[in-house]
Amino acid sequence: MSKSAPKSNCDDEGGKLIPIVNFNSCGAKEDCVAVCPFDLFEMRPITIEDRATLNLKGKIKTFFDKRKAYLTDPSRCHACGACVQACPERAIKLAKVP
Ligand code: SF4
Repeated sequence: MSKSAPKSNCDDEGGKLIPIVNFNSCGAKEDCVAVCPFDLFEMRPITIEDRATLNLKGKIKTFFDKRKAYLTDPSRCHACGACVQACPERAIKLAKVP
């Protein structure tokens, strides 16, 4: 999947919404890395702390691929929604910055 320019419904300033990745669902398919116009995702091995939060489904997924989609700088998210739409595991949602 190729990258595209931010969509017109983007939050132009950024920083109002951030992507949240559910590691129980993330299967490291990398679609989010491919589509984010701001390069906010990278695949990294799951940390010990994050591994401790996984449920059974997450542990099984992680057995086959130890990588998860981590955010490089969520404050730069422009809320275009491309990652949410692209994720085949439906592992990403956008949430208001607390
Ligand atoms: S919504 Fe997803 S694809 Fe769009 S800028 Fe934010 S992290 Fe990147």
